[in-house]
Amino acid sequence: MGRRNSAELFPGQRNKEKRQLWGRYKWRAIERFYQAKFFGLFGHRCFKCGAEEQPVRIGAPPVLCVDHHIPMVLGGHLVPGNLVALCRRCNGKKLDQHPEDFYSPEELKNLAPLLAKQEEFFAFDFDWVAWDKDRGAYLVSLGLSASLVHDLLHDEMHNDFIGLPDPRSKTIEISIDFDLSDLAARERS
Ligand SMILES: [Zn+2]
Repeated sequence: MGRRNSAELFPGQRNKEKRQLWGRYKWRAIERFYQAKFFGLFGHRCFKCGAEEQPVRIGAPPVLCVDHHIPMVLGGHLVPGNLVALCRRCNGKKLDQHPEDFYSPEELKNLAPLLAKQEEFFAFDFDWVAWDKDRGAYLVSLGLSASLVHDLLHDEMHNDFIGLPDPRSKTIEISIDFDLSDLAARERS
C-alpha cells in the first residue's frame, strides 16, 4: 500500500512512449489495424489468463491492453521486445512486478519468442510516396479491407475518417505538371 506505480512516477512518460510506438502508423485507422495484428501475435488473448478479446462495443473498454513487460520503474519502455498483451485484470495485478515475479518459468519460456518477434513486427515506415499516389490503394496494400478503406475515404461519420486528398493540393500538382511540360516545350523550340 502507498507504493507509487510507474504511471505516478513517470507522468506523461507513458503517453509519450505510446505516441512513439503507435505514431509511426500516422493514421488512427492504420494504428488500430496494426494494434489488432499485434494482439494477433498473442492469439487475441491475455497472455496470462487467456481472456479473449471481445468485439468492440461502444462505451466498453477493450479487454486487452499492452503491458510493459519490464515495468518503467525497473527501466523498461514501451518498445518492441517489451510488450505483452494482457487483459485489464491481469495488467492491474502485474503492476510494477518484475516478469520473474509474475510469470512462471514456463510462461516466461513461452513468452520469449513473442517478445523476439516484435522488432520485426514494428519495423514500419509510412510510405508517403505510395500514399500521395493513391491512398486507397496504399491502405488496401497494408491489408485493410476494401470496404473499410472505402468508408475511411468517403464516410465522414466514420470514427477514423481520413477523406480524399484535398483538391487544392491536386491543383498544385497539375500546375507543376503544366509548368514542366511548358518548360520542355520551350527547350524544344
Ligand atoms: Zn488476463
